[in-house]
Amino acid sequence: MAISDNKQIYKQAIGVYGGTFDPIHFGHLRPNLELCEVLGLEHVRFVPAFLPPHKENPQTSVAQRLEMVELAIRDEAHFVLDDREIKREGASYTIDTLKSLRLDFPDTPLCLLMGMDAFASIDSWYHWQEILDYAHIVVSHRPGSSFNEHVGFNEIQLWPDVIQDFYQTHKADRASIHHSLSGKIRIEPVTQLSISATDIRNRLKNKHSVRFLMPEAVINLIKYYNLYT
Ligand code: ATP
Repeated sequence: MAISDNKQIYKQAIGVYGGTFDPIHFGHLRPNLELCEVLGLEHVRFVPAFLPPHKENPQTSVAQRLEMVELAIRDEAHFVLDDREIKREGASYTIDTLKSLRLDFPDTPLCLLMGMDAFASIDSWYHWQEILDYAHIVVSHRPGSSFNEHVGFNEIQLWPDVIQDFYQTHKADRASIHHSLSGKIRIEPVTQLSISATDIRNRLKNKHSVRFLMPEAVINLIKYYNLYT
């Protein structure tokens, strides 16, 4: 599908979703499917980090995290595995990933998808102010974070000034995501799933069930490799 605006023709926007995915869970999957639908994204690219700059090193190998993501998304036609950070090696800076995606998709709006917890500290990311030169940012609600303009509670007020300014300067409606290649920020509500990889790792360590927190195929793989014990 092509979108036209001011005589510019853009391809249908795509989503870019980075994470450690150690392991991948429904809190990663469901919100992105909803974003794909409400924003009309052509697909969402899941980009596992080789070395996440802001986190401890993953507990599992690159190959195991890739295999888990592959299994988790294989039945959803709108989800695609993108292993460019793994192939690039070194610290996985989002700005480098976006530059490389922009080369691959020169006339496609790119939407960097992230949870509100990640956005609230985006000013600590490498060259964060350049991100909007390459992509839009779509922030989804995550349990523990709230944003509701209608009832008056607005987590933005709790953000550091620099993040509030960043958001207020670039916030946009849904349509504008499709009418420009980059540069907008949009907050979207999604179904709230209070699931984290940290909690899953702890449950596995304590030999507790992780059923219904993540796809069955991923659980089976974790059992097969005896991960997070
Ligand atoms: P960890 O517990 O190890 O820190 P995590 O579960 O937060 O991991 P990551 O792979 O670090 O998962 O997260 C990547 C992205 O997924 C971030 O943008 C984060 O905000 C988002 N995310 C993770 N879990 C959820 C969730 N339950 N709901 C919405 N967004 C989520």
